[in-house]
Amino acid sequence: MSKQLAKPVAVCSDCITYSFDVNDIDKPCVVKRGDYQCQGTYVDVTDPINWKECTACSGTAVAFDGASCLACQESGWLLTRRR
Ligand SMILES: [Zn+2]
Ligand SMILES: [Zn+2]
Repeated sequence: MSKQLAKPVAVCSDCITYSFDVNDIDKPCVVKRGDYQCQGTYVDVTDPINWKECTACSGTAVAFDGASCLACQESGWLLTRRR
């Protein structure tokens, strides 16, 4: 019933924002919080060992109440380790 969603391929070393674009790897993070520009860099997390199915939404990216799952940034995947 749950189809597997694409795994993110890069993740910010600072704010842990996911990216699905391999071209982002080793590039500076573009996330802004107010006036603060994130100083992180997208690191390569293409190895499947970095990911497990999101336990909050069972990998569907949709929370139990029908809203987008925030735990996995609507990706269906949770990062198992940083770097
Ligand atoms: Zn960042
Ligand atoms: Zn989730």
